[in-house]
Amino acid sequence: MDASWFDRRFEDMDKRGKCPEPTLKAGDRLFGFKVLRIEQMDDLRVTAYEIEHENTGAKLLHLHSMDRENLFSIGFRTPPPDSTGVPHILEHSVLAGSEKYPLKDAFNELVRGTLQTFINAFTYPDKTIYPVASQVKRDFFNLARVYADLVLSPRLLEETFLQEGHHLEFVDPEDTSSELTISGIVYNEMKGAYSSPEALMFKEIQESIYPDTPYAFDSGGSPETIPKLTYEEFRTFHHLYYSPSNARFFLYGDIPTAEHLAFLEEMLSSFERTSVNSEVTCQPRWTAPAQVRSVYPVSKEEALAGKTAINMAWMLTENTDEETAILLEILAGILIGSAASPLRKTLIDSGLGEDLSPVSGIERDLRQLLFAVGLRGSDPEKAGALEACIMDSLKESVAKGFDRELIEGVLHQIEFQGKEIVRSSYPYGIVLMGRAYHTWLYDGDPLSGLNFPRIIEHVRRKWEAQPDLFERLTQTWLLDNPHRVLSILEPSRTVAEEKESGFREKMASIKASLSDQELERIRETAQRLRTFQSEPDSPDAVASLPKLRVADLERGIETIPTEKRSLEGVPVLMHNLFTNGIAYAELAFDVSSVPEELQLYLPLLGKMTNNMGAAGYSYEEMAKRIALKTGGLGSSLNAGMTADGRGTWQRMIFGVSALHRNVEDTVEILKDVLTAGDLSHEARMRDLLAEKKNGLHAAVVPSGHAFARMAAGAGLSLPAWRDEQWHGRTQLRFVSRIAEEFQKKPGEFREKLACLRSIVFSPDKLLLNMTGDEEGLSLLENQLKVLVNCLTRSVKEESAALPERTPVYSGIAIPAQVSYVARVMTAPNFNSPLSPALLVLARHLSNGFLYKRIRVQGGAYGGMCQFDPMGGLFSFFSYRDPRIVETLEIYQEAMALIGDVKLAPEEMEKAIVGTIGALDRPMDPSGRGTVAMIRELAGISDSDRRRFREAILDASTEDLQSAAVAYFSDMHKEEGVAVYASEDSLSAANQRLQRKLAIEPLIWEAAE
Ligand SMILES: [Zn+2]
Repeated sequence: MDASWFDRRFEDMDKRGKCPEPTLKAGDRLFGFKVLRIEQMDDLRVTAYEIEHENTGAKLLHLHSMDRENLFSIGFRTPPPDSTGVPHILEHSVLAGSEKYPLKDAFNELVRGTLQTFINAFTYPDKTIYPVASQVKRDFFNLARVYADLVLSPRLLEETFLQEGHHLEFVDPEDTSSELTISGIVYNEMKGAYSSPEALMFKEIQESIYPDTPYAFDSGGSPETIPKLTYEEFRTFHHLYYSPSNARFFLYGDIPTAEHLAFLEEMLSSFERTSVNSEVTCQPRWTAPAQVRSVYPVSKEEALAGKTAINMAWMLTENTDEETAILLEILAGILIGSAASPLRKTLIDSGLGEDLSPVSGIERDLRQLLFAVGLRGSDPEKAGALEACIMDSLKESVAKGFDRELIEGVLHQIEFQGKEIVRSSYPYGIVLMGRAYHTWLYDGDPLSGLNFPRIIEHVRRKWEAQPDLFERLTQTWLLDNPHRVLSILEPSRTVAEEKESGFREKMASIKASLSDQELERIRETAQRLRTFQSEPDSPDAVASLPKLRVADLERGIETIPTEKRSLEGVPVLMHNLFTNGIAYAELAFDVSSVPEELQLYLPLLGKMTNNMGAAGYSYEEMAKRIALKTGGLGSSLNAGMTADGRGTWQRMIFGVSALHRNVEDTVEILKDVLTAGDLSHEARMRDLLAEKKNGLHAAVVPSGHAFARMAAGAGLSLPAWRDEQWHGRTQLRFVSRIAEEFQKKPGEFREKLACLRSIVFSPDKLLLNMTGDEEGLSLLENQLKVLVNCLTRSVKEESAALPERTPVYSGIAIPAQVSYVARVMTAPNFNSPLSPALLVLARHLSNGFLYKRIRVQGGAYGGMCQFDPMGGLFSFFSYRDPRIVETLEIYQEAMALIGDVKLAPEEMEKAIVGTIGALDRPMDPSGRGTVAMIRELAGISDSDRRRFREAILDASTEDLQSAAVAYFSDMHKEEGVAVYASEDSLSAANQRLQRKLAIEPLIWEAAE
């Protein structure tokens, strides 16, 4: 049959359950490496090898597992010398090309034409890491080979530096009398980051609490300092730190260690040992606390009251002190991890702010740990009271002692995380790598933080011997620790404008100081850069990259075992998969009959259901039960088109997970929240509304592209309209209004929720989805039967008529220095013969034309298109974009051009390999269960998917061309445009646009 390697991947893990047998022993010398140590970690199902390269001193850690998704990564310690962002600009630039692979953008070529399941690079405050992963061995080594060469021996051309870092150019490129400005990809990326209050909050704390270390600088680069970086400094930084002697290689997956070593011997053969001083200095401890104040931008018409964030932050122990570090992580969980946590509760109840500040928690990606906590939605004059409130709460906890169940709950969460096989947007290896680095980077034991079960056991013993362990930690590290900062971040209506005008003045004065000759040189340099960017790579350069062919690809589809049953009349889907002793259940309620006026309340129904009290338990008690017994309780709202495009589906999905021993308690909890939720606690409800409003509001700037896309698509289909209602600006506006109204009329909101509950939580609207091994499934089945019988059948509701949806053409004003430009169109359904070709086409356009024009030449952080057959939409969108009008023109141009150009066979091959790679992205067991359910809801059969995959694999350039012509020239498709940008940028764009954007504020302040 069709069982492909996906299923085998997990079967292998099942059969061999434990960690792989060691293939080497400590002291072994092979391929120029010396094995220092081997450790088997059964619960993680890995065997760890710590190894050193004898010649260069490069360090290596291999976590050998049964997972076919192998991860290769190189990391360097890169403490920043200033805030020019040199580590970040290098992170972008090394991936451009090397002597061996002399491309202009090798990274993009790898993204396009390989089966990579993850490829990226990260700049941290003190390290830079380059990870890449694949499920196919040949592809894996191709990727690792290119990645290692790019990182260790990059070309670092001046053009790359100008493009990725910064360069001067004229607003009108050919006219030296027009205004002078600065462009660069990292420059624009950081302008976006500096528009986000969260990013600023963390940055202020980090920079102020470690003033005598590299952490006083921004490794990402501050937009004001980035332009000071010179090309020479940039090259020198690479020379200093990117040496194998300063490298840490992290490997994970089922490829045997010796094969990695043979490969790396070849990669490292031309390098000698160098002496690198990359140590991250320790911050000397303070004897007295400090205070910092700063501002973040808000829109001109926004009210300032209640918009300040106040945080307290402490510098804690060193990361290499693993035992204390873990205990402090647990302490943070006790203090603020759940609604029952004492410090969290005191803060929320204090009325000094609206909800917990998003930087609250412990930060381990620094040499000395940091713990921060605070409130947002506050006012600057409340800072003193807030500080006193935090300190008093800590004192009270120490005096009274922590609740034992609360501590047990945190320990259970860590045990659960240690067992769960997770593969969300990151490979599992990345999670383990992150933990290893906490100690490894500072020359500590890389394995000390990995072995969760052993850690928990150790902590338990220690806690038993010393019952006031956590109270003592609170006393020592928080109450008696003077190394702390009180940080106040206030809103400012003028800071954005001041920065902008300051920048203009500076540019004008620079320009005034330059001779005509110098101005001409700037024009020429920018011109040269544009020419460089527009020239294609030479055929030899393109041929230098190792490649997979379409013929190498797996033709079969991944199948997910699904058994259909019925439980007390409720349809059930069961997926028998290896889940390492965890059971997953999802309850998917059909919400298509919910009247239109109540649809907007659904996200709040989810939030209130999961976070209020129930069945006689207070909300704190419920939070404790959830932490103690479940791996998490969550809800989501999803909608989509059916495969044939004729119907739609809309579901509210509640999901829980539990260790087998806790399945009974977990389903009991689920039953309590669904059938006996308590909506009476007004103060709690008010806090949850504030939390929802602030969370959504804070997401706008960092996810501007997603908001723009939802807004632009909203008028085009029912699922897209629901998406905007549930997750977009429409929801934000609604929640803001409800939060306001709730103060005066709490009863009305509660009635709406109660009414919704009786409509939604009905057995006749339910589909049950269960994922686990045989034991887990049978445990779930037995318990869920009880739950189903407790649900009350709703009185049949007729869905109200849907509102008229009209496509939008709007500009939404947000306080950001960059723009997000989206254009969305109606598109064919999954089963349409056009769909496979459109998917390939979207990928080709994204990684080719759009990438080049919007990112490389336009300086935006990203520009792409996406075909979503499940949503019935084709979208173009950009991210952290300095331009609006040009970007809209580029979208138009892309559609006009694509039907005319016949793809070269090489390009075609890359587009197909890349599309298949994206389709084959691995999933964790619970993700596989969920995807199988979504396919069922959309009516997508395995044979539909098989046909779809084969059509992609067999697509010819003619197929692509005719699909492009058929789709893009179709005049019947509807479309919408939405731009999220500052009001000034929107007005400026409107002066040049023929059809004007309707400009609206993000939220109408207290006016709606
Ligand atoms: Zn970046």
